[in-house]
Amino acid sequence: MEVGNIFRHLLVHNEAFVKSTESTKFLAYATQQNPYITLLTCADSRVQGNILGIDIFNKIFIIRNAGNQVAINRGTVEYSILVLHTPVMLVLGHTDCGAVKFATHACITQSKEIVAMSKSFDKLINADYSTISREVKGEMLPLTIPIERGIPQLSKFGDEKKGLAYLSQINVDYQIEKTLKYYGDLVKENKLTIIGGVYDFVGAYSKELGRILITNINGNISPNGLQESARTIIKRIPNYDESSQAYKTVCQLIEEKVTRI
Ligand SMILES: [Zn+2]
Repeated sequence: MEVGNIFRHLLVHNEAFVKSTESTKFLAYATQQNPYITLLTCADSRVQGNILGIDIFNKIFIIRNAGNQVAINRGTVEYSILVLHTPVMLVLGHTDCGAVKFATHACITQSKEIVAMSKSFDKLINADYSTISREVKGEMLPLTIPIERGIPQLSKFGDEKKGLAYLSQINVDYQIEKTLKYYGDLVKENKLTIIGGVYDFVGAYSKELGRILITNINGNISPNGLQESARTIIKRIPNYDESSQAYKTVCQLIEEKVTRI
């Protein structure tokens, strides 16, 4: 799309939003915000807040950068957790992440692991990042720390999309590890729950495209421990009728969506 149309869209779409939104909605929160989720996610345009609900106004405090890294926006993360007191922080990676791809390329082209890699990673190995500026590289290179941890496992994966999803998952674990160093006490006191997930729009985890898979809860990544943690969190809903259909649906979703590669 060229700039004239992009600018026209900007004007027209915002005006349509103004016309379709009751002013009372804004007035009620004119001087305060009360979000309940701190969302740290990637800047990728395929990842948008509406995957968490149709209307996330005043509900989700969104922090975005390349590769959903805590260190890049440490102050904003801290503001949301310590000043806004969101009870949940969601660290959300995604499939086909460009930042993860860059870091993976940087790792494998500089190590002997490349020999052990499956042939299906040839496309990534041969990618050319030579024209990317120092500024862009500087922001993505810290991701080589978590990615290096996952590289030895890559030969297990037959296809690149699954391997890259696995590395996004490993990156989320690392970012949660960092977050726990700073805010682990709040987690221990049950004031903060840190949830890690991978938004899958390529079908790396299941055939259902667009799913958020829950891959980490407060640093817990063991398959059984993860499911158990998820069920424990649901039990915190006051007076939740465990014989209701809604409860059964949630349990079913935990079975399907709380899982790791
Ligand atoms: Zn990304």
